[in-house]
Amino acid sequence: MLRKQSQRSKSTQNSSKTPKVDRSSTIYEVISNPWELVKDYQSHTKSIYKILTKEFGKVETPLTYTKDYELCIAVILSAQCTDERVNQVTPALFEAFTSLESFANAEPKDIEPFIFSTGFYHNKAKSIVGFAKMLYGEFQSKLPKTLEEMTKLPGFGRKTANVVLSEVHGIVEGFVVDTHVRRITYLLGLTKFKDPIRIEKEIMQKVPKKYWDALSLYLIFHGRKTCIANRPKCTECKLSKLCPSSLTKKQ
Ligand code: SF4
Repeated sequence: MLRKQSQRSKSTQNSSKTPKVDRSSTIYEVISNPWELVKDYQSHTKSIYKILTKEFGKVETPLTYTKDYELCIAVILSAQCTDERVNQVTPALFEAFTSLESFANAEPKDIEPFIFSTGFYHNKAKSIVGFAKMLYGEFQSKLPKTLEEMTKLPGFGRKTANVVLSEVHGIVEGFVVDTHVRRITYLLGLTKFKDPIRIEKEIMQKVPKKYWDALSLYLIFHGRKTCIANRPKCTECKLSKLCPSSLTKKQ
């Protein structure tokens, strides 16, 4: 299964045109409690979902891969790194290491030169080898189907495991909270928390499961295209009228 780069890469192209607004203090402080301005949580969430569905349509991970274990490695590499950068380094990596077994038998130092530009390459190389060893050995090369088993794999936190479970098996066990989702769920008043684990728990309690997968991806795309960290484009944001943190409103 080959995934192609989609909206996410297109969405980042225009961001440099927006004048930088120093919103470092406003992101979380001007409107200190955005969630208190949300009167009807369910209808607020549905309206956001509807607008984002219209904007982004069918969404899928922008990471490119051909084998399921390659997706896992790409997701490990995507920590603190853009998908675009990961998609730049993985072709050479997957050409050098052509099977799960070859990753399992590799030394981290063999992998490091290929992934250097993704940052934290020492730890990522260790995680990749550890992941490959465990998947190849303990799991007989079959990706587990539960969050509990998936998070036993080296380099797999809840976020990584949720992404892979949903992408490979179509199983949605949780709500993926990356840096964009963390920021925007707060700004939109969908959560009162700033900690990813608590945000995930709150969304899972309040938002129907059928929305979790797409909502998370929509917020990631929205964060890259419009609600950019520290320079959100509120004047052109389709959620502006609904957003309690919008800079277009008097605060
Ligand atoms: S209006 Fe849009 S861009 Fe502005 S803070 Fe809200 S979601 Fe982000």
